[in-house]
Amino acid sequence: QTKLIAADKNIPVISTGDIFRKTAAESTELGKKVAGLINAGSFVPDEIVIEVVKNRLSKPDCANGFILDGFPRTLKQAEELEKWLASTGKKIDAAVVLDVEEKSIIQRLSSRKICKVCKKEYNTVTLPPKKDGICDLCGGELFQRADDTEDTVKHRLAVYKEQTRPLIEYYKKKNIIIEIDGNRTVTAISSEIKSVL
Ligand code: ZN
Repeated sequence: QTKLIAADKNIPVISTGDIFRKTAAESTELGKKVAGLINAGSFVPDEIVIEVVKNRLSKPDCANGFILDGFPRTLKQAEELEKWLASTGKKIDAAVVLDVEEKSIIQRLSSRKICKVCKKEYNTVTLPPKKDGICDLCGGELFQRADDTEDTVKHRLAVYKEQTRPLIEYYKKKNIIIEIDGNRTVTAISSEIKSVL
């Protein structure tokens, strides 16, 4: 969805996952700090996440706007972002929430299977292989990623509920929340987001 909206508005998608990988590869002080944390498998603290995002949003391609993906994930991050944007004369115009039933999220992620040989992705519910456990393309064996197991997905959802979901209330109070029914096709969802924006 972020890619579709970004193309429509001609502004960049700022994905924190991508930034972290890129920042870690830079030989700056911040880059070394981030690489150290990632390599140690540590949680990246709010202060560093915020610093990295500010740094990215200061680049010229963000001058006419941007879409944030994967950030903010905590109230502290949202507050710091708002403060910093205000100091540069900017603000967040909209926060989009895609409502998908928890049952459906668990089912979508935990039914993903990948071919060991050619890496093609299947979904045992929505896109099953012709022969159970075997890749249609190369006959390779299908496997499940460790972070796609039902238990891990449930843990990721628990972290989301505790740390990220409070942001919906936060942005509701600022009257910029857009709630979208996410149980539909990609095209239906993106045309609704575009029309509301
Ligand atoms: Zn295959």
